[in-house]
Amino acid sequence: MAINFYEWSISQPTAFWAEQAQLIEWQQAPQQILDFSHPPFTRWFVGGTTNLCHNAVDRWLPTQAQQPALIYVSTETGQEQTYSFADLYAEVNRWAALLLQHGVEQGDRVLLYMPMIPQAAFAMLACARIGAIHSVVFGGFAAISLASRIDDAQPKLIISADAGSRAGKVVAYAPMLNEALQHAQHQPQAVLWVNRGLAELPLKPGRDVDAQAALALLRHAQVPVVWLESNQPSYILYTSGTTGKPKGVQRDVGGYAVALAASMRYIFDGRAGETFFSTSDIGWVVGHSYIIYGPLLAGMATIMYEGLPINPDPGIWWRLVEKYQVTGMFSAPTAIRVLKKQDEHWLKQAKLSSLRALFLAGEPLDEPTAHWIRDALGVPIVDNYWQTETGWPILTIPRALPNDIPKPTRLGSPGFPVYGFNVQLLDERTGEPVTRNQKGVLAIQPPLPPGCLSTVWGDDARFVKTYFSSVPGKHVYSTFDWGIQDDEGYTFILGRTDDVINVAGHRLGTREIEESLSSHPSVAEVAVIGVQNELKGEVACAFVILRTALPESIAAQALEVELKKVVEKQLGAVARPERIYFVTALPKTRSGKLLRRSLKALCEGRDPGDLTTIEDPTALAQIQRALGQA
Ligand code: AMP
Repeated sequence: MAINFYEWSISQPTAFWAEQAQLIEWQQAPQQILDFSHPPFTRWFVGGTTNLCHNAVDRWLPTQAQQPALIYVSTETGQEQTYSFADLYAEVNRWAALLLQHGVEQGDRVLLYMPMIPQAAFAMLACARIGAIHSVVFGGFAAISLASRIDDAQPKLIISADAGSRAGKVVAYAPMLNEALQHAQHQPQAVLWVNRGLAELPLKPGRDVDAQAALALLRHAQVPVVWLESNQPSYILYTSGTTGKPKGVQRDVGGYAVALAASMRYIFDGRAGETFFSTSDIGWVVGHSYIIYGPLLAGMATIMYEGLPINPDPGIWWRLVEKYQVTGMFSAPTAIRVLKKQDEHWLKQAKLSSLRALFLAGEPLDEPTAHWIRDALGVPIVDNYWQTETGWPILTIPRALPNDIPKPTRLGSPGFPVYGFNVQLLDERTGEPVTRNQKGVLAIQPPLPPGCLSTVWGDDARFVKTYFSSVPGKHVYSTFDWGIQDDEGYTFILGRTDDVINVAGHRLGTREIEESLSSHPSVAEVAVIGVQNELKGEVACAFVILRTALPESIAAQALEVELKKVVEKQLGAVARPERIYFVTALPKTRSGKLLRRSLKALCEGRDPGDLTTIEDPTALAQIQRALGQA
């Protein structure tokens, strides 16, 4: 019997990935497919030279220059514009010329703090073209989050815009970025601004540049691509962990290009000339992989959408599917839960015959949501599980593997390990594989496949310590997720093993929120946990011990509002706790470890579990009182 695709990828990774490498164009072919001589560091396609921008843009000029590449739709500003591959090429070249004009060289970092506007895509691709390393920071993050990323990435240049817009409300970026630069130690040489005319944009002489004015002088610029060795960094994308300091996930060039091109073909069944619609944001990994690079590497048009799924009405996404003949759509369960609250006729009004599948990722897909959207759309709903670190799916049911009929989906499970990922479920105490139907830490036996993080930016030791040292006795990559496999091998994700929470598909470290709340002078101690929420999957809840008892003059409610504002201002609205409770003790073990799981259980109205180790039993009664349970 012929060996199947998955087994081939695991037993003969070199042969397997040598074949997949042919999905992209190389200036110089790789000399060595895999170098795993310094585990856990993995180098793919060593000696090969290529370029992400070439493969995403230039490559398609001979065959489909006039076909759509980037379809921009903003229901916030009413802008709708299609850029062909030829248009995209021209725009990206102008941006690349602008970066060169400002002295950006290969290996320099360029930080983007931008809303969902086409210029963000041009700037990312321009960085890739000249070998600069982009670091996109989600526009929903506020000054302190932004400052820590600026200090870590040390960008030569920052690119921003006057404002984003959400539900018609203008969110000015300049005050946020200026405040971040006041906090940051590192200062960029220049800040390029795209002015959308939404908010006031005073330019600081000597530092700030009007990007549009500068680009107007570069109308016919052509910038040759810089051929990069496959393992050069392409970008940094920050993600939350268990410490307050975000980790810069560093990606390579060749491995990422090959992994994405392969995923577009095998997992997403994307074909050149078709249209892909991913509803994420460029500030997240899905935006990098499946708004910008993945579809373009596959020669597809990609829709970049600024706005809400329900504005101007809940039919907007489906009308776009019909209008642009979208064949593959990618979203998050939260967005579908929002749509589920609306009348179904919105969905039925559009003709969706072009759509072959809806892919959902970022958080657990609950059964009612999956059922609802499957019945409403009448196409397969494909759950896929992965992380910022991996860059593409670890678990799913690929739509178009060679010689394969997709296995039936099982609601609640993303499916099976994807080719390239040697997934294991391990006992957290012994490191041994668990048996079927037993919960274990979802780990990946290295070498990690192409496309995964090559290291943590500027901190190899942190990469090894964080990801490869947490399972006893094993040098495996930990996802920090619990998983369980049923009798037929379907894997289910049961939540995080660490203190990371997932709010509407946005990954947040509880530690960062705790640090932010602690910066308020009234706060002595704080614990933040994630609590189940019907719409957002999880929300942050905080328990705060005050330095001194609340003065009569200040109502708890007013302080709660004030503390929420602190988090919103420092980290961004995504991180704002849903509820803040004031207590005088937190449930801890005698060794001082916070009993997070018990706290979470209480908040969710469940049994707090074994409390024999608790130091101060009255703390629990207090929590129950605060929650109105006692
Ligand atoms: P991020 O790095 O922001 O993409 O977040 C990754 C985390 O989101 C994973 O470690 C999981 O905890 C969670 N996650 C992502 N996709 C899924 C999924 N399909 N099902 C369950 N959890 C998911």
